[in-house]
Order: sequence, then C-alpha cells, then structure tokens
Amino acid sequence: MSQLAGISEEDFNTLLGRVQEFRDDKIAPRVIQWEQERIFPIDTISASHELGLLGMEIDPALGGLGLSFGQKLKVLDLLSEVSMPYAFSLVNSHNVAARLARHGTEELRSRFLPDLLSGQRLGSTALTEPGVGSDFSAITTLAARDAGGWRLNGEKAWITNAAASDVIIVYVQTDSDARSKGIASFVIDGTRDGFERLDPYGLIGSHAIGTAGFRLNNYFASEDELLALPGEGFAAALTTINEARTYVASMCCSMVEASLRSAVSYACERESFGRPIIEHQGLSWQLAHVANQLEAARALTDRAVAVIEQGDNRSAILSAAHAKKFATEMAEPALTACAQAMGANGLKEEHLIGHRLTAARVANYVDGTTEIMTDRIAMSLPAEYQATLTVSVAS
Ligand SMILES: Cc1cc2nc3c(=O)[nH]c(=O)nc-3n(C[C@H](O)[C@H](O)[C@H](O)COP(=O)(O)OP(=O)(O)OC[C@H]3O[C@@H](n4cnc5c(N)ncnc54)[C@H](O)[C@@H]3O)c2cc1C
Repeated sequence: MSQLAGISEEDFNTLLGRVQEFRDDKIAPRVIQWEQERIFPIDTISASHELGLLGMEIDPALGGLGLSFGQKLKVLDLLSEVSMPYAFSLVNSHNVAARLARHGTEELRSRFLPDLLSGQRLGSTALTEPGVGSDFSAITTLAARDAGGWRLNGEKAWITNAAASDVIIVYVQTDSDARSKGIASFVIDGTRDGFERLDPYGLIGSHAIGTAGFRLNNYFASEDELLALPGEGFAAALTTINEARTYVASMCCSMVEASLRSAVSYACERESFGRPIIEHQGLSWQLAHVANQLEAARALTDRAVAVIEQGDNRSAILSAAHAKKFATEMAEPALTACAQAMGANGLKEEHLIGHRLTAARVANYVDGTTEIMTDRIAMSLPAEYQATLTVSVAS
C-alpha cells in the first residue's frame, strides 16, 4: 500500500469517535448472533462505507480517507475489541480497493473502485489452495495464454470474504515448473462465467470472516486484468504481507487489552475470602503476566508500524515477523488467563473472550503461520546476531 501521511490528529480523533459509535451500535449487539448462526455480516461490512472505512488507506483524490498505516491500525484495533473477524473481513476488502487504487489501470479503477468503496461489492485476495498454504510458490492454479488474454483454471481455498466477494485478486502460476518465477496476479470478477463459488466453511468460530473457496473453470481474463506480470506476483504478494502481519499482531494486542480490562475490573469488584480477588497474589500475578506480555507485544507491533511507515521494506520483513509471532503466541494463553480470573463468568458469551479466543486461533494461520514467522526470524539469525566470539583476556 502507499504510505500516506495521514489526516490531522483532530480529524482522526473525530473519526475514532464515529467508529466507536458505529461499533457499539451496529457490531457489538450482533457479534454473538453472527457466531451462533454462522452469519457472514455482509450488510454490516458494507455499512462501514458510511464512515469511509472501506477506503481507509486510499488517497482522498480517489475517494479514500487518506489515513496513514498507523491510523488504519488504530481503527482496526477499535473494531477488533468487539470483533476481530469483522475487522479482518473489512480490511481484506479494503486491501483490494487499495491495491487497485495503487496498481490498477484507469479502466480497472473506474470499473471496480466505486463499488468496493461503497460496499456494493466485497474484495478478497486469494493465494491459498486446497493443497497449498504456507508454500506459496507451489500454487497450481494455472493461467494459460489465450487469444486476447488468459484462461484461468484451478481452485482456491480458505479465502477471507469469498463467501460473498466478487472482486478478487487471484495469484496464479503461468509456468508449472517455474515456482515463484512464474507467479502472476489477476483481478477477477466473480459475476462472470467460469467463476464457481464454494460453500463457506463451518469452523470453531470466526464465521464473520466469511471464509470460503472458489473454482476457476476456464475463466477468461483479459490482458488489462493482469495486475502483476508473470514472475512479479510472488514479490507483489510479499510486499503487502508485512503490513497484514503487523495489523494481525495489533488486532491480537487489542483483543487481549479489552479482555484484560474486563478481567481486572471483575477482579477488583469480586471478593473471596474477605477481600477483592485482585488482592490475592496468586491471581494478580497471573494478570500482571498478561499485562507484561501485552506491553511487549505492543512494543514489537509499534516498532513494525514505525518501520513500515518509514518505507523500509527490507527491515519490515523481520519486524513484522517478530511482532506477529510474539503477539499471536501471546494472545491465546493471555485470553485464557483473563477468562480464568473471571471464574465461571469468564465463559459467558457476553464477555466475548470465547469469541476472541477463536479469533486468536485464526491469527496463528492468516498471512503466514506462526511457524513461518519463526522461520523468517531463523533465516535472519546470521545477519542479525553472528559475531566473532572472542574476548581478550588480560594476562
Ligand atoms: C480464517 C482464515 C482466513 C484466511 N484468509 C485467507 C485469504 O484471504 N487468502 C489466502 O490466500 N489465504 C487465507 N487463509 C489461508 C492461510 O493463509 C493458510 O491457512 C496459511 O497460509 C497456512 O496454510 P495451511 O493452512 O494450508 O497450512 P500448511 O501450509 O499445510 O501447514 C500446516 C502446518 O505445517 C506448518 N508448516 C508448513 N511449512 C512449514 C515449515 N517450512 N516449517 C515449519 N512448519 C511448517 C504450518 O505452520 C502449519 O502449522 C485463511 C485462513 C484462515 C483460517
């Protein structure tokens, strides 16, 4: 995405106030129902266009809000306190609009941007396939040249918003033996022939992400729908993934912070053995550990945000991997500790800790799994830490 300078602090605070109102009015009362009835809340995602959220990080000249990356994350954090799945769905649609705003031709922008910004249509980005996840360069969805364009064949799986989206940036292979060197991307239109939507998944939670798959059956894409040329798709996907890893880390921090606030409030009010339970060291230390982990995750996330805002793409790979690994590994035990501090009450759906727990589970997969983050960090070890281990000893 482009690194926009952002809007003034005053305007941004006004926006945050409106986002909070929207969240409390339109999202919070429905989150539990969405989960219980496995609803993908398309209308509520579309409704966020009233605040401009489907164009957060898009230049105002193209109809966006012009937020900086850091400002976008603050909006997503606010939404994630109540529903990370909602925030994740929203930002995934936004990302398609932002990608087209930045890399699409004039024709593609005028064809898709107005509908994406107004929530008339939702967007998705599709890399994963039924047989290929972490090893992105092994994708098998094939694009073969045809008169005036390309024919696309293959199946995509686990795609955010694909339960309803129809403006999809799809990554394909153009040469079966070339791995990363053959990958290209196209924007495809899910209303056209050759696009077959598959049923959404029944999951342990997070149905508001609208995760589903689709098949491309001899789908025709014209030359101007090619977004990243063969050989450039792999790098194009990785450029934006550091930003995604960082906002996933931030969403985890936000979910844990909201749960910690509930747990501390409960522990200050609830009494056992004649005093508030927060005064029992065995309990307060558990919550202190959560606070400590949260501070560390937030610091790593803030560092990744700063690196990304400086436009330092090389350093962003490592900073984003550190932030995502730490925050996603921190979130599940931290959320469990918060629920534990609230006793049986922590299990009640209204406290949203269960909702956040399944979202934290999702965070461990999306935009690169925890193991892939660890692998990125491992690959950096020689450059970051290798040194000659000799010390001079005075004789
Ligand atoms: C709710 C949800 C939404 C999603 N949205 C999207 C989307 O919008 N677009 C999209 O393209 N994809 C999306 N995904 C897919 C996600 O990106 C993949 O789940 C992820 O890349 C991992 O792939 P996989 O699930 O196939 O696991 P696999 O790659 O099969 O891996 C299985 C396990 O092996 C581990 N593993 C694999 N390779 C290594 C290695 N080299 N070293 C150590 N461990 C390894 C993995 O970490 C994992 O734990 C979504 C997934 C979910 C759950």
